[in-house]
Amino acid sequence: MTVLNRVAILGVTGSIGASTVDVVRRHPGRFRITGLSGWQQSSALGLLAAEFMPEMIATAPGHAGAVRVAGGLGLSSSQILEGPNALIRVAQSHNVDTVVTGIVGAAGLPPTLAAVQAGKRVLVANKEPLVMMGSLLMEEARRTGACILPTDSEHNAVFQCLPLPLQQRLTGNAPAGSTTGIGSEISRITLTASGGPFLHTPAAALANVSATQALEHPNWKMGPKVSIDSATLMNKGLELIEACALFSIPESQVDIVIHPQSIVHSLVEFCDGSLIAQLASADMRIPIAHALAYPERINSGATSLNLTAVASLQFEEPDTERFPCLRLAREAARAGGSVPTILNAANEVAVSAFQEGKLGFMQIPQLIERVLDALPGERVTSLEAVTYIDDKARQLAQHMLPSIVGTGV
Ligand code: MG
Repeated sequence: MTVLNRVAILGVTGSIGASTVDVVRRHPGRFRITGLSGWQQSSALGLLAAEFMPEMIATAPGHAGAVRVAGGLGLSSSQILEGPNALIRVAQSHNVDTVVTGIVGAAGLPPTLAAVQAGKRVLVANKEPLVMMGSLLMEEARRTGACILPTDSEHNAVFQCLPLPLQQRLTGNAPAGSTTGIGSEISRITLTASGGPFLHTPAAALANVSATQALEHPNWKMGPKVSIDSATLMNKGLELIEACALFSIPESQVDIVIHPQSIVHSLVEFCDGSLIAQLASADMRIPIAHALAYPERINSGATSLNLTAVASLQFEEPDTERFPCLRLAREAARAGGSVPTILNAANEVAVSAFQEGKLGFMQIPQLIERVLDALPGERVTSLEAVTYIDDKARQLAQHMLPSIVGTGV
């Protein structure tokens, strides 16, 4: 008999949240939603809360009333809490077994760490926690027995390609005495990238592309931040950093390859030369369903992949001249410590400025590089240190923004 898995979805009104809700709805006997969070979209949150009637709901300051109105009578027994601490309360609630983290940006950090510290099963679907404090999270997971399940599609693909003993080692279910990390059996991880909407756009034209064009991702339906990161290839750069943290592997053993069809989600090469890949349609419900039910398999609702309709799979080298973000991220992965946090913070500022039309597409990496050059890397051992560096890097990026804008597009 399947034990009921009590799930909290953080960031339920975003795209990860929507995919998670869809999977959960298909398996009412297996999952029960006991915690939900949403920040600004009070009516969407209220309606979802009325459907699932979670014990606890977290929302932005001043939004509880609107959530209750939208949810109506169905919410009479739910506790609605406001503010960042509310996210931590939901993540650590004793009514929750599994936490799905779908909050975009650095705001997802404290609740993700809180969930790991409370020993939960944590589906890390947002990038920032692993980019900014990956080694800290993995260390805490080993200490508390939390099970971190990679849910970003590429990392989930890598995880699926690993042999069971390695999966057990990574999720903290290995027999005592096992070493951590991926070990010598794995010689290389290859993350695939679709290449985004500007894969073959000439360098000269890239300077003038708009945010609207950048949002038109060819294969995946995602939120605006991730879509723009996909267009600059920073998304893959952040995923490279994530992979190093999750799988305890140096960046030199993580390759990036452009694969425009987004069918092969990533590959693992073993020391004997075997290359194992995970193939599926580009549907986030697949990695989410895998991580929710792991080690079992459940229906995700995704359509079956028709290989003859796909017909061919292409792979090519990424162009770091036209997409310098990938080079910057690799350098940050190599440097480690606080450097990925600085990279991520500068990127968030640059992407917002690009969305607002203040910064050109090719100025995004320029701003990031300036900030990285100005701030020295250091070791980070706590959430407070990471948050402090994140703040400092954001302020510096804001401060440097006018000088980049002044250089012209
Ligand atoms: Mg991804």
